[in-house]
Amino acid sequence: MTNNFVHVPPAPTAPDELIRRDLARVWHPCTQMKDHEQWPPVAIARGDGVWLEDTAGKRYLDAVSSWWVNLFGHANPHINAAIAEQLDNIEHVMLAGFTHPSVVTLSERLAAITPGDLSRCFYADNGSSAVEVALKMSFHYWRNVGRPEKTRFASLANGYHGETLGALAVSDVPLYKQTYGPLLLDTLQAPSPDCFQREPGESWESYTRRQFEPMRQLLEQHAHELAGVILEPLVQCAGHMRMYHPVYLELLREACDEYEVHLIADEIAVGFGRTGTMFACEQADITPDFMCLSKGLTGGYLPLSVTLTNERIYQAFYDDYENMTAFLHSHSYCGNPLGCSAALATLDLFEQSPVLDDNRELARVMAAAAAPLADHPHVGEVRQHGMVLAIEMVRDKAAREPYPWQERRGLIVYRHAMAQGIFMRPLGNVIYLMPPYVITAEQIRWVLGVAAEGIDLATRD
Ligand SMILES: *Cc1c(COP(=O)(O)O)cnc(C)c1O
Repeated sequence: MTNNFVHVPPAPTAPDELIRRDLARVWHPCTQMKDHEQWPPVAIARGDGVWLEDTAGKRYLDAVSSWWVNLFGHANPHINAAIAEQLDNIEHVMLAGFTHPSVVTLSERLAAITPGDLSRCFYADNGSSAVEVALKMSFHYWRNVGRPEKTRFASLANGYHGETLGALAVSDVPLYKQTYGPLLLDTLQAPSPDCFQREPGESWESYTRRQFEPMRQLLEQHAHELAGVILEPLVQCAGHMRMYHPVYLELLREACDEYEVHLIADEIAVGFGRTGTMFACEQADITPDFMCLSKGLTGGYLPLSVTLTNERIYQAFYDDYENMTAFLHSHSYCGNPLGCSAALATLDLFEQSPVLDDNRELARVMAAAAAPLADHPHVGEVRQHGMVLAIEMVRDKAAREPYPWQERRGLIVYRHAMAQGIFMRPLGNVIYLMPPYVITAEQIRWVLGVAAEGIDLATRD
């Protein structure tokens, strides 16, 4: 490895001056910019493991993995070195007509570790684009095999698949979707298996099975016009970390086979070990027809995504050029070598130590540390799938009645945690932990202790 990957720190700037310049020019994602009059953005100078450090030298434990992307900590030496080495060879080359060692090896390794017969890798540069690819490929597959009437998609209530128009059309988070309704595809929607809604005393499995029935009916009724069903396996992350039992995936796989509809698994957030297994689909022992991966794919380093599919679907596009069956979709940065090298280094880290076994122990620590919160008078539920743990604040515990969203009680928890040096960004009234895997048991207990204090503060009146 050569090391000419020199980090040049930005010229020292007073933090306030940097924020003033930021607010004069930068339009931040998913933000009402006026909020920054009261709560300016936090300027980060560097990261190290679970820590983010701001320009004034204050450190924050990154308990949400920087929007669920980071797996092995910030400035991970192994990933840094891999990117530096790649940088010395080739930073980018277009993937149409060209290839490079990193994308070939990454495709082989992804085919080897993903479930079943997923063997063909199509790259893009963000999660939403991976979803667009899956939707377009599914639609196009049915045209290529002579069933052009299969044009529609079904998805779950409370699902989230990204912000581009196709991905937004199969999503159901009103906050992000409602405004753009008139622009979107007409899709079908089944109720969510979200187990927060189960009857008192009912098991996750029983509720999840019950919630599958309307999906089965939808498939039966619309099979002739349906190309595919898309869902987030096990955890609806942006939809307030709502969770369900793996049996739903088993039942959906069977029904999709019966009614000849593609199953599209969006593992962009839950892939790479978040729910305890490498991929969430493994917990139901199913193989989807398409699997979308991004976020943790590069260990949280670089924008890269991939849509995997099987040989049968691939072959439906494989023909003489003049027959016009090719998938003519591209992005400038498809298969970017730097992203692929970060992804390969991330997979090395999974191989070099028993990450998933170690995570099982961390998940037990998370469960034990959060358990007392289940008795809190304003906690409706503490739920967990592996390394994702969520605590739902409610106004009325018995009725599971939510606090009105306008009260923004999650922000109180956020600000309390930031003051203590923990970065937790709640989803509405849901406080959650989705930490990098390099977090320690002691840090987990500290984070959940601070979360409990924050919840007390946020629910006092
Ligand atoms: C984040 C996310 C996406 C969108 O990925 P982007 O890279 O933000 O476009 C899609 N699906 C799921 C489940 C996600 O969590």
